[in-house]
Amino acid sequence: MTPEEFRRHGYQAIDWIADYLARPERYPVLAQVKPGELTDALPAAGPERGEPMDAIMADFERLIVPAVTHWNHPGFMAYFAISASEPGILGELLATALNLNGMLWKSSPVVTELEQVTLRWLRKWTALPEDWFGCIYDTASVGSMHAIAAARQAADPQCRTRGASQGLVVYTSEQAHSSIEKGAIAVGIGQDFVRKIPVDAEFRMIPDALAAAIERDLAAGLRPCCACATVGTTSTTSVDPVPQIADLCQRHGIWLHVDAAYAGSLMVAPEFRWAFAGCDRADSLVTNPHKWFMTPVDCSVFYTRRPDVLRAAFSLIPDYLTSAADPRAVNLMDYGVPLGRRFRALKLWFVMRSFGREGIANLLRAQVQLAQDLAREVDADPRFERTAPTPFSVVCLRYKGTDDENRRIQDHVNSTGEIFISGTVLNGRFTLRLAIGNRTTKREHVERAWALIREGAERL
Ligand code: PLP
Repeated sequence: MTPEEFRRHGYQAIDWIADYLARPERYPVLAQVKPGELTDALPAAGPERGEPMDAIMADFERLIVPAVTHWNHPGFMAYFAISASEPGILGELLATALNLNGMLWKSSPVVTELEQVTLRWLRKWTALPEDWFGCIYDTASVGSMHAIAAARQAADPQCRTRGASQGLVVYTSEQAHSSIEKGAIAVGIGQDFVRKIPVDAEFRMIPDALAAAIERDLAAGLRPCCACATVGTTSTTSVDPVPQIADLCQRHGIWLHVDAAYAGSLMVAPEFRWAFAGCDRADSLVTNPHKWFMTPVDCSVFYTRRPDVLRAAFSLIPDYLTSAADPRAVNLMDYGVPLGRRFRALKLWFVMRSFGREGIANLLRAQVQLAQDLAREVDADPRFERTAPTPFSVVCLRYKGTDDENRRIQDHVNSTGEIFISGTVLNGRFTLRLAIGNRTTKREHVERAWALIREGAERL
């Protein structure tokens, strides 16, 4: 491609993106394709000779876009809605153009240093301890796995050479994200050694139950090594009592990891800091700017107060990657499994500069307000009940009927193409779940979702 051709197709792609972002609701939020339909529509093998960009773009529109579930759509209220933004997209575009690999400081100083600077800014914005070390991974799942690996390293320093020894135990709640259990699987602790601590009526880990589980394991000769608390659990956004969990961790020398993948963004708004009480006592914490911080996927921030332990777990420097030692030249490859590292900090830097702390806080506040208003509407309708408290921007509710009826209501909403909601199971019963978190979701979209839910109930 010549520079002139690149310019022409580049402008064409930017035009497409600008039109798309201006009105994603021109598409159904949920892809309308059947499993395998796209695969069947694409050639079985790649082309022998290169094809013209116009043909590729035409197929993008004709074949690729119909198979998209539109996370940018204001009616996207499933899972945790995400909120990529134009500044973040531009940062990602430029990072892709630069195509850097930040494995070592010297392999591109800007990758390491901008990552350290943006994460320092974020620490200040979120009132997390100044002396924490931060790095960016792709996902919270990978961040939490590294936390568990560091906890294992702290409890069993020889695991690095001899392999994981049996009997290390990880604690988390029944409501924790599955990534915690997966992390324990990945680092060789094993599912049998993950204790899923019961939760109270508001889906928060019960500290006394945690204390009892630790005592039981100690009495059985096992070695408690890591407790994972969640601020903003996946199903209900409940907040575990981190201060009490931190007390127990301190008493028993257990690594405390906090999973704030979704809710962590709210730390930029001081009135929500109550939810993060005790997090400053954690050994590590993850939060996902790619969830609720206007940053495109992927960007997950990992902080730890004990980078030395993470380094002890993962630093391994082959001859071909040696570099001069300088305390200011951090080599990020020393802090985890990946060697190669995308320039993810650039999009975060664009987002932070473009919105400012106040801008992001105001967007999040508005979304929390929409959820609170919906919660009140649900409470006022005797046919429905809320199935969990609504501390942030997720509303869990059910029609006071059977699981099957609630599933039919969900299907009704999702079949419209206007709104996409997901569900979960709470106390053994299927419940509808609306997650407000898309930057473009306005009151009218939430009202439409609620109208469709009621319509679905009327049609039963
Ligand atoms: N932790 C929590 C609380 C989550 O809700 C999620 C995903 O929704 C994750 C972790 C996993 O995030 P990721 O997809 O970045 O691994």
